[in-house]
Amino acid sequence: MSTPSLPDMSKLSNSALDFIDDVRFGELLSKKSDAGRIREIAAKSKAKQALNLDEAAALLNADEPELVELIYDTARQLKKDVYGNRIVLFAPFYVGNLCMNDCQYCGFRRSNAEQIRHTLTVEELHEQVSRMLAMGQKRTIAVFGEHRNYGAQYIADTVREIYSVKYRSPKTGSISSLRRVNINAAPLDHGGYKIVREAGIGTYQVFQETYHKPTYRKMHPAGTRKSDFMWRLDSPARAIESGCDDVGLGALFGLASWKFDALSLVAHAIHLMSNYNVGPHTISFPRIRPASGLHIQEVIDNNVADRDFLRMIAVLRLSVPYTGLIVTAREPANVRQEALGFGVSQLDAGGRIEIGGYKDINSESVDAQQQALNREQFELGDVRSLDTVVKELLENGYIPSFCTACYRLGRTGEVFMEYAKPGFIQDFCTPNALSTLQEYLQDFASPETKAVGEKLVEQEIAKLPDDRRKQMLVQRLEKIRSTDKRDLFF
Ligand code: SAM
Ligand code: SF4
Repeated sequence: MSTPSLPDMSKLSNSALDFIDDVRFGELLSKKSDAGRIREIAAKSKAKQALNLDEAAALLNADEPELVELIYDTARQLKKDVYGNRIVLFAPFYVGNLCMNDCQYCGFRRSNAEQIRHTLTVEELHEQVSRMLAMGQKRTIAVFGEHRNYGAQYIADTVREIYSVKYRSPKTGSISSLRRVNINAAPLDHGGYKIVREAGIGTYQVFQETYHKPTYRKMHPAGTRKSDFMWRLDSPARAIESGCDDVGLGALFGLASWKFDALSLVAHAIHLMSNYNVGPHTISFPRIRPASGLHIQEVIDNNVADRDFLRMIAVLRLSVPYTGLIVTAREPANVRQEALGFGVSQLDAGGRIEIGGYKDINSESVDAQQQALNREQFELGDVRSLDTVVKELLENGYIPSFCTACYRLGRTGEVFMEYAKPGFIQDFCTPNALSTLQEYLQDFASPETKAVGEKLVEQEIAKLPDDRRKQMLVQRLEKIRSTDKRDLFF
């Protein structure tokens, strides 16, 4: 598609600074938390104020069961106040597994001879996207290894190709396409971020993997591009300076101490907020999974137990109230289900991460599809179909949402942070979530899921406080039920 290129690693952002102060973070994490202080911090969070580092560290240190309970309760409340009961759904799209790096935890690392390397051709890309659309997907994250063939122009061309694929629902004849393409790929330079922004990307995610420098050095061998800690740490700032104001942070848990990396994620969010007046759009916290050619015990020094993982999610919810939290299908279904209660706002569902892994939806039982580790980055923990996950969410009172309205109306970055306040959810998010759910029920859901979904839609309409909005939404839903008109939003 385009000529290979590599970014110019000599130019950092205007705010470039190594704000990870190991000594200070260590001190903060060794202070004991008392109940009075935790109550004060929880009250500040409830008022939807972002926490400072001392406060986040105090929450991470609150090990006593009753304090952990208080943090969980506050996280549940905040989740309700800021996000309502919507859960945004997406699916990953792995474009190619070439990689010049040698990250010790990853199946794509260059020294892994077991990995079968492939980059999707344009025809394969169209077929894969059609299969995602046939399930009912509307949002994706395109994922790439770090390689000279996957430069900014290539990523931008790929995003345009993905947006161009159209699918006609055999049930209703409606036409759909992916409406938001996020990216998870290597850090770019300023010019690179401008190129991908022009292709209309959603969020650009770069996970720091670990903020603990000695561990970072151990995991990313010297001489590889990824061994440059600062280039990676600075990448969200460069993205924002280049106009990509929805950035996603993340850390890979299991490498270093979970408390240290969780505190560092908060420090990264504070750094962006104080320099650009915009925090991260999302934070991800994958835990290491088995991968091809990987002896997982040799990599994981700091395995995170489920209870600590859930605690960390709750602390992040309190620390950065307006940042979306993502828990991916790396996690098993039961952990994902529990995490929803403590503040997770986005899940991937029905995703396949082998290169070319999306199969024809009618050809086999999608739930039971085997994973081929030598074609994927790691093993998934939850391979249930989109329909199964949607049904479970509905049964638990959540609204599965495929909404992309904010990003398409320019409500991103700093502007988004102003909107994501009480009132906005009822006026915009809930009605938009319900209309995208109605589209899914009409065009793609199984009869069982449709029946549960229709009931939830009725209950949610009844709860809307504004009669005018309610009336407009009812008309909109009727249009979706009786015509092939789609993609209607407030
Ligand atoms: N190559 C790009 C990079 O490294 O920035 C894209 C990232 S990679 C395709 C997506 C993320 O998967 C990585 O940033 C890492 O956090 C995570 N990952 C890698 N190996 C993993 C494993 N064995 N288990 C779980 N997550 C893993
Ligand atoms: Fe390559 Fe990314 Fe895997 Fe590292 S994590 S080996 S850069 S794909």
